[in-house]
Amino acid sequence: MQLVDFHCHLDLYPDFTEVIKNYEQKRIYTLAVTTTPRAWLKNNELTKYSKYIQVALGYHPQLVDESWRKELEIWIKHLPETKFVGEVGIDGSTKFKNTLVFQKQVFKEILIHCANAENKILSVHSLNSSRTVLDLIEEYLPQSKGRVVLHWFTGTIPEAKKALKLGCYFSINPRMLNTKKGQELLKTLPIDKLLTETDGPFVKINISDTIRGLAIAKHNTVDFISKQISNNFHTLINTQLLE
Ligand SMILES: [Zn+2]
Repeated sequence: MQLVDFHCHLDLYPDFTEVIKNYEQKRIYTLAVTTTPRAWLKNNELTKYSKYIQVALGYHPQLVDESWRKELEIWIKHLPETKFVGEVGIDGSTKFKNTLVFQKQVFKEILIHCANAENKILSVHSLNSSRTVLDLIEEYLPQSKGRVVLHWFTGTIPEAKKALKLGCYFSINPRMLNTKKGQELLKTLPIDKLLTETDGPFVKINISDTIRGLAIAKHNTVDFISKQISNNFHTLINTQLLE
């Protein structure tokens, strides 16, 4: 089975280099997201020779605060060095209410820079903020300029439909399979827009369990779903967007 983990925090595991080795051995196509542009540098160095791991340049919305300009400057500086961006987005939870204005500004700037750079692939956090996140994507990152993968999406079905119109993919977190809302959402998502993710180390589960869960939800075989996810991954990363 060819596995895909399109949103994983490899550097937050206790033994980073061991985890890299493990993912390589298991040949899991991985998007290692980072939470700050400085963390990206280290991740990038350690996975230089990796065949299966790609590192995304991130600035996690939960870490955005009043000193965001300095951090964003570093992010902008490194953008030309990678095709992948994440974890970025907005967290609308009460705990991060105080930084919401900064978060929106940062996400907007990130989308504008990605649109200008063209052909970037973004892993986007939209917890309690799907509507704002989608509105900003619609306004600042047209489909012809970049691709968005919504990580652990918990928005409504109309919001999911809007996301599909904007060309978004969805990386499915195992936790989404265990809720009624998640199951309902899955029904509206076409199979060619799905990827799998672990969000490790925050969620501890096997990707093959997620594949099994998806197979049940989509009334299909495990073999079919795993091939489909792997095809989706290759389609996504190989698509050169048109003008
Ligand atoms: Zn994450």
